[in-house]
Amino acid sequence: MAAKTLEDWQKLRDNLNYRNQAFIDGKYVDAVSGKTFEDTSPIDGRVLVKVAECDKEDVDIAVKAARRAFEAGKWSEAAPAYRKSVLLKLAALVRENSDELALLETLDMGKPVTQAKNVDMHGVANNFQWYGEAIDKIYDEIAPTGPAGLGMITREPLGVIGAVVPWNFPLMMAAWKLAPMLATGNSVVLKPAEQSPLTAIRLAELAMQAGIPEGVLNVLPGFGETAGQALGMHMDVDAISFTGSTEVGKYFLQYSGKSNMKAIWLECGGKSPNIIMKDAPDLNAAAQAAGMAIFFNSGQVCLASSRLLVEEGIKDEFLEKVKAVGQFMQPGDPLDPKTMMGTMVDKSQTKRVMGYIEAGQKEGAKLVLGGKQVRQNTGGEYIEPTIFDNVKNDMKIAQEEIFGPVLSTLTFKDTEEALKIANDSIYGLYANLWTNDLTKAHKMARKIRAGSVNINNTGGGGLVMPFGGYKQSGIGRDGSLHALDKFTQMKATYIALG
Ligand code: NAP
Ligand code: MG
Repeated sequence: MAAKTLEDWQKLRDNLNYRNQAFIDGKYVDAVSGKTFEDTSPIDGRVLVKVAECDKEDVDIAVKAARRAFEAGKWSEAAPAYRKSVLLKLAALVRENSDELALLETLDMGKPVTQAKNVDMHGVANNFQWYGEAIDKIYDEIAPTGPAGLGMITREPLGVIGAVVPWNFPLMMAAWKLAPMLATGNSVVLKPAEQSPLTAIRLAELAMQAGIPEGVLNVLPGFGETAGQALGMHMDVDAISFTGSTEVGKYFLQYSGKSNMKAIWLECGGKSPNIIMKDAPDLNAAAQAAGMAIFFNSGQVCLASSRLLVEEGIKDEFLEKVKAVGQFMQPGDPLDPKTMMGTMVDKSQTKRVMGYIEAGQKEGAKLVLGGKQVRQNTGGEYIEPTIFDNVKNDMKIAQEEIFGPVLSTLTFKDTEEALKIANDSIYGLYANLWTNDLTKAHKMARKIRAGSVNINNTGGGGLVMPFGGYKQSGIGRDGSLHALDKFTQMKATYIALG
């Protein structure tokens, strides 16, 4: 099948149907209050559709439905092989509908549609497949108690789990949560971000079609301060898995403390260092990766390599190469398959990023690429790839997460200084290191306080590797089999044998 053209995507868009209600107990419903909010597209500022604005009451109804479903046992007590078959069906349905889902994602939050399809929807399907395939291959344990007894260590689903996700990879972040939660037999209440609820709402229907029983997956669009908080404070929610900002992550810890001590799993912000040593095996490849690692998804990526640390002596040469990547990645129409970079998610994000660009200049960093809003005649939210040189690590643009296409360049003179700068951050999500020296690479990797360290790449090993943060980047890990631990209880059953 030939790849879709701009015209193909536009035609699809013109015939697109937007699901806009909450999905509770197997049905699409309005919010109890009847309230809705406007979901706009950052591509042109158009209102796409009005979406149900769920609140505390809706959360309560959804949690009750989720609990009923959990106790009924159709899903929670189903054989792992059965849950596998349903999750594999869901993966297949995501693939079958990936044009529609990718387009919804693009219209809702402005990423290039080819990336929405090849990265996001591919990743979503893969997540459901991977955890589905895993779940009937995992064994429980017998403890070394000796002959007097039999000590069984078993894993049980937690119960009702809330998932609260951001807008940068809307459905993919949801899938990172849902796949391991559902594989382990839990019931889920998902709150998508207010900027990008459309794919999650549509997924609910696909999940039903795949055979997820009523009440097991509920999707509640709404605002963080209302619906999100109500989930966090709910007395009958057993855990929350959150991806979003560090600030809101801390709220969830408070909600737990003020309510029922539910487990809180957090994937929060980052300010990832990308360390380029003189002896990197291939400076061209490193520069290409450095550019992609900050400009991909318009820099709205938690693991974005937003601090470029270059060894003195090669900085000017290296920065020229990274600038070339930025020049190449100019923002364009997200529906055009040639477009490499789309929009900011909304007006307020544009304002926030532009504010940082201003702050960088005020603090004395040197703007060497971009720095402006573009394509303003479209009504959309486009910012150029932007690079600062001469950045000091105590500047705002080196310390705070910008979540936009803004790269801060710093230099270091030796490995010790590189490590010092890399670790001088409240965050510790992700780091990259480029060197030909294996010993140096291992020694430095051990000293970097981050959940992931990549040597001679910026992409990491994918779903088979755990992902999450040290320090204020979060608590717990998504990805890999380790993600399953968060969504299960461990039970110790001891049988005396006389
Ligand atoms: P955010 O403002 O923290 O929002 C994330 C989610 O929390 C949204 O669903 C939001 O709802 C909800 N929320 C907001 N305020 C809340 C409150 N007071 N109580 C309960 N829930 C609340 O983050 P964002 O702006 O969507 O996303 C950007 C951030 O996410 C960045 O900091 C980025 O680093 C982080 N992120 C981290 C990862 C990771 O895996 N580590 C991945 C992606 C993004 P509303 O949309 O209605 O406000
Ligand atoms: Mg939107």
